[in-house]
Amino acid sequence: MPIYVIIPNMESKARVYFATARSGKWRYDDSMPGKLERLLNQAHLSSYFDKDEWVAVKTHFGSPGAYRVVRPVFLRTVVNALKAINAKPFITDTVRIQGIDYLEVANANGINHLSVGAPVVLADGLYGRDSILIKAGDLLNEVAVASVIHDVTAMVVCSHVKGHINAGYAGAIKNVAMGGISSSHRHYGWKCGRGAMHTIGEGAMEWDGNQCEHCLQCVEVCPLEIIGFVEEKIVWNSDKCWRCGRCQRVCPASAINFPGDDERFMRSMAESAKAVLGTFSPSKVLYINFLTEIQPECDCMPTADVPMVQDIGILLSYDIVAIERASIDLILKEKHLPSSAAEGLEGDVFKSIHAKPYEFQLIEAERLGLGSSRYELITLS
Ligand code: SF4
Ligand code: SF4
Repeated sequence: MPIYVIIPNMESKARVYFATARSGKWRYDDSMPGKLERLLNQAHLSSYFDKDEWVAVKTHFGSPGAYRVVRPVFLRTVVNALKAINAKPFITDTVRIQGIDYLEVANANGINHLSVGAPVVLADGLYGRDSILIKAGDLLNEVAVASVIHDVTAMVVCSHVKGHINAGYAGAIKNVAMGGISSSHRHYGWKCGRGAMHTIGEGAMEWDGNQCEHCLQCVEVCPLEIIGFVEEKIVWNSDKCWRCGRCQRVCPASAINFPGDDERFMRSMAESAKAVLGTFSPSKVLYINFLTEIQPECDCMPTADVPMVQDIGILLSYDIVAIERASIDLILKEKHLPSSAAEGLEGDVFKSIHAKPYEFQLIEAERLGLGSSRYELITLS
């Protein structure tokens, strides 16, 4: 059935299609939605996705205050393209805050059935606990793949590219690896969820009372409301904690720490991505990276900062490593924007903010056979 199957090897380069964000003509075809339509035409969707096949359009819904997600107009364009080949798309994401509240966040960020033209579905249920254990690898052992993503046969991964609290760079690999699994498994808790990437060992919070300024930002940012203070000492519910790392990230005094290892984190993300993608047949997953509003932090944080570099455009590929490599290469050519977090900082924009070895995501993903870092960039005229 598939005509264009990309099999990474040393001889071939994966195709990555690119449309610039610059617009030079006063017509729809040259707008970003129009260019996305044209990119989707290049993708030959009918060769990969079947009539009446349910197709998950995986994105990130954002959080209250973090509104720079993949815009509904783009999701609708993807939905329309899938409907045009008589597939049955739906929009999905895993639960980041309690499920009903998370659907309200999606709605507030403009993502609902009316705006995108397809149902909006929580991939791991209202409580974020509907997931299936899948063998991962040496680092993670097993991960809790969201049941909807596990069961659906085809997926379009729409990723807003940005920086990230732990990953340094966040694109398609992070969207699949962390966004494709639950925060916590019904029976095995955080150790099979996202927290297993953030932390190692028992992942117990370390709090330094001498550093703490009692600003209570950790209390406010916790999605589970499981941090409090009693007589100026932190109280933390270890059993319920997802190890999402938000409290650590917002602490202005570095008073909170979870045991972690950056390189292990990057490699474990690749492991998780492999486990998630292993639930699909080859060539049933398409990736679209949106290099727009590239801000320093993940869309799960309480705010969205201003972009660090200018909008670049949209990339599309059936190869997850190639699209990530091409995205990073394009971003690193850009100048840091004035009045942004990257202003005045030198070199790699992501490392200038987070100092994380994010390249290990790609190295490990390629080693695990998820794709090829060798790519051919095909620019839309
Ligand atoms: S890591 Fe921190 S913010 Fe996240 S669930 Fe645990 S206590 Fe809450
Ligand atoms: S965010 Fe940090 S400084 Fe503020 S109360 Fe929490 S531990 Fe203390």
